[in-house]
Amino acid sequence: MPRVARGDTLDEVASLYDSERKTCLRFIFCLVSSLGYMSSICHSGYGYSKKLCEDATSWFLRTYFPRHKISVEIEHKGLKREKVVGYCDVVGECYRPRHFLIELQANMDRELYLITLFHELTHVAQWIRGDLRHRYGKLCYSLEPVEKYEYENQPHEVEAHKMESVLFREYELR
Ligand SMILES: [Zn+2]
Repeated sequence: MPRVARGDTLDEVASLYDSERKTCLRFIFCLVSSLGYMSSICHSGYGYSKKLCEDATSWFLRTYFPRHKISVEIEHKGLKREKVVGYCDVVGECYRPRHFLIELQANMDRELYLITLFHELTHVAQWIRGDLRHRYGKLCYSLEPVEKYEYENQPHEVEAHKMESVLFREYELR
């Protein structure tokens, strides 16, 4: 198992197993809108508030995608990469994707947690709107390959960095 190979000492190996065991507990939360559309949120891992995770994610989906059927999985764990606190990936079909996996660093404080979650949910929105898509094997934003830019200038990241605090304020003030 490649993950275990990274642990040099016995202790590290044990903690990797331990965190893997914890991620087996998964909670599924379904959102049914008045129109009958249903999205679902599935979360797992450790070092997070289940209530905050469900509340913020369902607020986002209800507010911005009330007519879609979206499935979001959120895993909380030690991401073990310097400075990275979140990831967002499409699960399965990349054409008009509706199933997403978000990975979040465990044990973040409330504000950093919400900002990181809303950053990743902005990427979900970009995929759903079709702004973000794969073309000829390249990740594109508005049909333009994002690899033309440095990470911090990539247009989907610029938007996500702007939206993370806009959404955070909207959520806190609702
Ligand atoms: Zn991002």
